[in-house]
Amino acid sequence: MAKKHFETDAIRAQMKRSENNEHSAPVYLTSSFVFDTAEEMRAAFNEESNDFIYSRYTNPNVDEFVNKVCIMEGAEAGVASASGMAAIYTSFMALLKSGDHILSCSSVFGATHALFTKYFPKLNISHSYFNIKDPNSIEKLIKSETRFIYLETPTNPAIELIDLEFVAAIAKKHNKLLIVDNCFATPYLQQPIKFGADLVIHSATKYMDGQGRVLGGVVVGKKELIREIYLYGRLTGPSLSPFNAWTLSKSLETLTIRMDKHCENALAVAEALEKNSALENVSYPFLKSHPHYAIAKKQMKAGGGIITITVKGGYEAAKKFMDKLQMIKISPNLGDVRSIATHPASSTHCKLSEEERLSVGITPGLIRISIGLEHKDDILNDIEQALK
Ligand SMILES: *Cc1c(COP(=O)(O)O)cnc(C)c1O
Repeated sequence: MAKKHFETDAIRAQMKRSENNEHSAPVYLTSSFVFDTAEEMRAAFNEESNDFIYSRYTNPNVDEFVNKVCIMEGAEAGVASASGMAAIYTSFMALLKSGDHILSCSSVFGATHALFTKYFPKLNISHSYFNIKDPNSIEKLIKSETRFIYLETPTNPAIELIDLEFVAAIAKKHNKLLIVDNCFATPYLQQPIKFGADLVIHSATKYMDGQGRVLGGVVVGKKELIREIYLYGRLTGPSLSPFNAWTLSKSLETLTIRMDKHCENALAVAEALEKNSALENVSYPFLKSHPHYAIAKKQMKAGGGIITITVKGGYEAAKKFMDKLQMIKISPNLGDVRSIATHPASSTHCKLSEEERLSVGITPGLIRISIGLEHKDDILNDIEQALK
């Protein structure tokens, strides 16, 4: 399908209608598909065929969702999975072999860090971390065994950024792949392939659904890499369910207006909180005070929906603040229409040592707030009353 404006593709990149002429896409709750002849079934099993065979492989709803994300990210091909971690794990397993090395930013999602440190050593797959604050350290850490450079920008939860074009150029120079977890930005705000990334991974659970209902994941990028990931996934079965795929494809229809509002609310709340004397720090990519403001302006359309605040008084003060919130709920999730507060040091990042946490900007007083779509004054009022 020809590329139209982002908003239009988000709505109009839809599967072919069935003979029932439905306007909105139906859900294909079927585990398998039938063939008219033995010959047709034989032909479908050719690995180059696009026929639907079995929903562990793919399904019309899953295809619609993947095609839409490919258009949004400017990618050649994609594979969907049951969760963001399934997309990450399946991609890694399809691309890595014993002896390989991963060069990753240290501030990766907690479960990704656990794969690197707890499970991959068993497979003789090693990793090194670079600090996102120090992009010049990357090149020195590349080894001949390095298969890919892996990163998140903005990072979770410290909201630090790295110049995608800069890292992609290093990867290219050394003939390594660049894989980006683009979950925080969404394809609406940032398209890493434009800056040279080979693969882009999403937890669709977050902003893609945006309403806290379903889990899902997707990886998009170079055709030959996606082919490997698809074949590994169709054997091992981390498949996205047709219902979740339908939900996610519907959700993407409203991604742009939701993200515009998340960003507008987050910037307004962050700007107001910068003046609050109970806080040591407020971080948001589109605040002029953000150390990576120039990078944010270069590669992101807007700052996203996540802010962090650092309360004075460390963990005790952070706990008190969290407990005093009235409307905003305490939860590990993010990217929901409802605002959510998380204390990373005691929850999502509790498995890291104190030293590891501090190196990726997670101080005891740091609180991540996923700014929702409630009225910005109500979000701000709740935060301000809890800070008092
Ligand atoms: C949530 C998240 C994941 C994992 O996604 P799930 O859908 O929960 O498996 C990966 N990366 C980032 C940045 C995330 O926020």
